[in-house]
Amino acid sequence: MKATTLTASTSAAATIAQVHLDALKTMAGPGGFFEGEADTLAYRQSWRYGYTGKTPLVLRPKSTAEVAAIVTYCAAHHIGIVPQGGNTGLTFAGQPRETNSEIVISTERMTTIRNVDLGNETITVDAGVVLQQIQEAAASKQRLFPLSLGAQGSCRIGGNISTNAGGVQVLRYGNTRNLVLGLEVVLPDGRIWDGLRGLRKDNTGYDLKQLFIGGEGTLGIITAAVLKLFPLPTASETAWIAVDSPATSVALLGRLRERMGDAISAFELIRRSIVDFTIKGVPGNEDPMREVHPWYVLMDVSGQGAPGSLHEPLSEALASALEDGLAVDAIICGSSQQSRKLWKMREDMAEGQRAAGGSIAHDISVPVSDIAAFVAEADAAVEKAYPGVRHCCFGHVGDGNLHYNPVRPVDWTQDRFMQEYSAINRIVHDIVVAHRGSISAEHGIGRIRLAENQHYKSDVELDMLRAVKRALDPAGIMNPGKLVEM
Ligand SMILES: Cc1cc2nc3c(=O)[nH]c(=O)nc-3n(C[C@H](O)[C@H](O)[C@H](O)COP(=O)(O)OP(=O)(O)OC[C@H]3O[C@@H](n4cnc5c(N)ncnc54)[C@H](O)[C@@H]3O)c2cc1C
Repeated sequence: MKATTLTASTSAAATIAQVHLDALKTMAGPGGFFEGEADTLAYRQSWRYGYTGKTPLVLRPKSTAEVAAIVTYCAAHHIGIVPQGGNTGLTFAGQPRETNSEIVISTERMTTIRNVDLGNETITVDAGVVLQQIQEAAASKQRLFPLSLGAQGSCRIGGNISTNAGGVQVLRYGNTRNLVLGLEVVLPDGRIWDGLRGLRKDNTGYDLKQLFIGGEGTLGIITAAVLKLFPLPTASETAWIAVDSPATSVALLGRLRERMGDAISAFELIRRSIVDFTIKGVPGNEDPMREVHPWYVLMDVSGQGAPGSLHEPLSEALASALEDGLAVDAIICGSSQQSRKLWKMREDMAEGQRAAGGSIAHDISVPVSDIAAFVAEADAAVEKAYPGVRHCCFGHVGDGNLHYNPVRPVDWTQDRFMQEYSAINRIVHDIVVAHRGSISAEHGIGRIRLAENQHYKSDVELDMLRAVKRALDPAGIMNPGKLVEM
């Protein structure tokens, strides 16, 4: 399948001389690199849209010092670098371009949990630690690391930080930006910035770490991070609720927050079509309710009380919502196994949608109060332009973040629909921007949203982005052609 939005940034850049590749291989040592089409394939390919870039070399350093030495060499010889974690990103930010002019630096061998400081409620980790391993390390100390997303078994914390990843618990704990206290970064000139401080207050000037959070590897390579921990909830409940519309789901969230406050840790809006796609496309999933409803909410509440102590408050809150027409039907899970099954179905939705074939993804956010209007306007506009299109949408209501992903009409081929990629993006994004929303709520810009971002951002904003990039990476070697066109 062709990725239609890759523009401009594939130009320039010569291939890398063999003498440099040999020097870099020597620096990485045996086991520290991959070369050749077959061995580098997994690092060049994207999970979505079948994009494959080119690179002569993938380096796998084991320490910050090794990363610094490699970057210093690349800076001296003007060699482009693509930092990579778990390669689960969805915007072509973590793969090399087609020019064969960049090396990939994978953090996959930097996997040490450096320290757990229970007094400070922090964990310090290498950038290559897989997210799920951080969650497990925290849980083994009765703590929670709340970042949670479908790719958590593969994505690495350096990638999560560089994409400012979101996921299902942002409503309560914030996105990655809110979970990072300190960073260690190798800058584009090879120097190491030791900002590994576990401070909740530090008013000594610009908060430099924020530049690297969501920086998509364009300003440096994150090598370690200090992350916030939270008490591990001891009581939790999961509910699957049928609602008649997105507007009702927003009203329901408001009502439940009045009753349960911050105990609500996740609140996902799910359209019926994606339930169908997931049941059909990913084995092991089944309909949670006998009746079919147009929209659902999957929610979690959690807290510190005795196990089961949230059951009654949640049932009472849902009963009152049902009475007042804010829900049509509701199930509270009777076991953690049932809860896991529902959350697995939520995690499988990206795969389910992929199995439906030919969907065009939008990772948007609008103010929560505009969600219903956005969905109604986008549905109408996409359907007018593409009669027979199948609406598909799921996302994080509390963050105003929806994955709004129209799926090809059944009688269209996948290729024919994907040719409409940019046109459909424009229809949806115009509506997003009219609501003062964002065209990328959690996945970032990478290359796939580069042209769209240039189209919608003001000159003032683009100038500021470019000024930051030039200040830290004047030679433009760090993840070139991503995030902002120079
Ligand atoms: C099934 C599925 C579900 C997903 N669900 C969510 C979701 O709910 N929420 C969400 O936010 N995302 C989601 N994603 C997207 C993806 O998992 C996240 O963007 C994740 O944070 C990427 O981490 P990674 O280690 O795979 O990074 P990569 O894909 O390897 O890289 C992503 C970006 O970070 C840069 N980078 C990686 N490591 C470093 C480093 N050490 N220093 C500097 N730059 C670096 C890369 O250059 C690239 O720009 C999902 C993906 C999949 C496949």
